Amino acid sequence: MSAARAPRPFVIAVDGPAASGKGTMARRLAAHYGLPYLDTGLLYRMVARAMLDAGHDIRDAEAAAQIVESFDEAAFPEERLRGREIGEAASVVAAVPAVRAGLLARQRRFASQPGGAVLDGRDIGTVICPDAPAKLFVTATPEVRAARRHKELIGRGEAVPFDGILADIRRRDARDSGRSDAPLKAADDAVTLDTSALTVEEALAAAIGIIETRRAA
Ligand code: C5P
Repeated sequence: MSAARAPRPFVIAVDGPAASGKGTMARRLAAHYGLPYLDTGLLYRMVARAMLDAGHDIRDAEAAAQIVESFDEAAFPEERLRGREIGEAASVVAAVPAVRAGLLARQRRFASQPGGAVLDGRDIGTVICPDAPAKLFVTATPEVRAARRHKELIGRGEAVPFDGILADIRRRDARDSGRSDAPLKAADDAVTLDTSALTVEEALAAAIGIIETRRAA
């Protein structure tokens, strides 16, 4: 008689470009399925914050490689990681292969919890969890994403012109998609969900529909 095989952890990988709504979607999916959630963008933001705090040039790849080995997650409350400047800086350090390698193990550890997990980022379905049974690639037009980010920044008291945000988004898309190590792209087996014309609730319902189809398969 063969021993019953343990069920595979149910990992939901949510990737997509900046301000696509993937974070909101991933958080809501985690609540819906009762799974732990990791916003992997925060890890890159922590490395960027630690670089800036230490006075390093954000393009100093050697300093970034050292920082990724030693930074303390507990030292970075989320409010220090959410500004416009830090998102931009995060995308610069995220192109450094040693930074990506240094963050790989902790993301995989999180994903391998017994019941599963929800992770969002740029390379979850392609690099971190290539075997995830459910992969979503959440996107929206640059204009819609810029409008969402604009509203969010205004809500936090950062008065930034819309055109500046749109330019940020386009620059970040180009950097994230153009880097050689783990570029932003949909995994071959991901389902792309364009949320440009969807409310949060509509996007969530569509995502759950996609995941349930995958679960049944
Ligand atoms: O998702 P968020 O905008 O917080 O991510 C900040 C930056 O971190 C992204 O622009 C991207 O360059 C990088 N990132 C990444 N891979 C991930 C998550 C984030 O390269 N899995």
